[in-house]
Amino acid sequence: MIRVISLDMDGTLVKSRFVDKVWMEGIPSLYAEKAGLDYPAAKEYVIGEYTKIGSDHLEWYDLKYWIDKFGLSISKGELLELYEDEIEVYPEVREALDLLAENYELVVTSNAAREFIDIELDGLQDYFRETFSATTDFREVKKSPLVYGAVCAHMKAKPIEVLHIGDHYSYDYESALDAGLDALFLDRKGERCGREVVGDLREAVELIDGFM
Ligand SMILES: [Mg+2]
Repeated sequence: MIRVISLDMDGTLVKSRFVDKVWMEGIPSLYAEKAGLDYPAAKEYVIGEYTKIGSDHLEWYDLKYWIDKFGLSISKGELLELYEDEIEVYPEVREALDLLAENYELVVTSNAAREFIDIELDGLQDYFRETFSATTDFREVKKSPLVYGAVCAHMKAKPIEVLHIGDHYSYDYESALDAGLDALFLDRKGERCGREVVGDLREAVELIDGFM
């Protein structure tokens, strides 16, 4: 029996535009100003530095690390606020969460750092019992089976009582299954098909109502 439903954040609840803007426009433009470079040159340099660290390291996800590294005179909060207007929740999310919240405890399991979760879910927080950041809370760079195990432990749930939904095939779907959870793969682009593939969260609700 499913008791807890875990949702990914970026690409699942919230469009990726905000995160992309912060990293790919915010930091480069502040660095351009600081270093006296034109924007394209600053962007190329900044992206080169991101690539050197790579997404397998915790620093990749750590806004404060990059602000300090580039010597920018802005706080994490101020930088995030610059792009706050770009945060956009997918259109079916509230309706889907309203329906799911009637029967399940809802949580968010994201690899985004805590400060991104707090700002991106502003206005949706009341739906969720807990929000888990793989990087901030568990010091894991990817949502490994260990992360899902830790989420279950926090929720005092057995893995079979938890269903995770997210848009990354390996970190949201395969990894959750490896940890013994149920999982649905959210394929908003409609590239995959299968019994556990859904095109949006409304479809996920229908599937959960029908089979769980
Ligand atoms: Mg995602």
